[in-house]
Amino acid sequence: TTCYLNGQFLPLSAARISPLDRGFLFADGAYEVIPVYSRYPFRCEEHLRRLQDSLDGIRLANPLSIAQWQAVIAQIIEAAPFADQSLYLQVTRGADTKRDQPFPAVPPTVFAFTAALTRPSDEMRRSGIAAITLPDIRWGRCDLKTVALLPNILARQQAVDAGCTESILIREGFLTEGSASNIFIVRKGIILAPPKDHHMLPGTTYDLVLELAARHGAAHEVRPVTEAELRDADEVWMTSSTKEVLAVTTLDGQPVGHGADAGRPGPVGRQMLAWYVDFREQ
Ligand code: PMP
Repeated sequence: TTCYLNGQFLPLSAARISPLDRGFLFADGAYEVIPVYSRYPFRCEEHLRRLQDSLDGIRLANPLSIAQWQAVIAQIIEAAPFADQSLYLQVTRGADTKRDQPFPAVPPTVFAFTAALTRPSDEMRRSGIAAITLPDIRWGRCDLKTVALLPNILARQQAVDAGCTESILIREGFLTEGSASNIFIVRKGIILAPPKDHHMLPGTTYDLVLELAARHGAAHEVRPVTEAELRDADEVWMTSSTKEVLAVTTLDGQPVGHGADAGRPGPVGRQMLAWYVDFREQ
């Protein structure tokens, strides 16, 4: 497939980046993943706004205007052999001539490519997924979408090693988010979401879920969620651009929820997914 690298469109297999690139040496960069449905980039403006926020947060000037990003995105989407895609954008602080921490005066590295979108399987939709909880050992600016994903990767692999799909992170007794998702819970019919702060990524799907809850009059509260509330929830969902709204039905080996619905996707999450799909398809 075609990718974009520093002003040029070229085959992904031909793209070359210096080993002195600060993305490689220091994870000094930011990224975005935009889902593409039928060659339409979903919530593109929101993703580009978050990219700007991440770049501002790491003091890296955005090398492209919104219009330039949109043109790059359109061209990559068009060149791909598949209609539903997962589009990736990354900006790093460029390649210096030496390995030295202070910012160099070099142009940034700008990279974009697309892959076929992997959506949740029918089985994942029907049964939900299993998750484990882990302590959130990440730094104090998890609101920035930087490429420094080592703690996320380690947490995610621990979930996979345990036969699970996602890790849910707990910081000082409170739910923060998943290793690659935001987490919502439902208790007594009320959707609960942790407030945006420096300990979680402000998810585009998180925002959309709260917008849909407000629009359809679903009871919801944005407030800190304790680990105890998570463990005793009626429903737990993970949300992300590629997973949309996906039920977590097993947590640390225990079924999520109570009564007949225990261990199965619950009604509030099913309704939210229906609203989400309606919104996406309109
Ligand atoms: N938190 C983390 C750590 C993530 O990696 C992601 C996925 N990008 C999300 C939350 C969800 O964000 P979004 O809904 O914008 O995909």
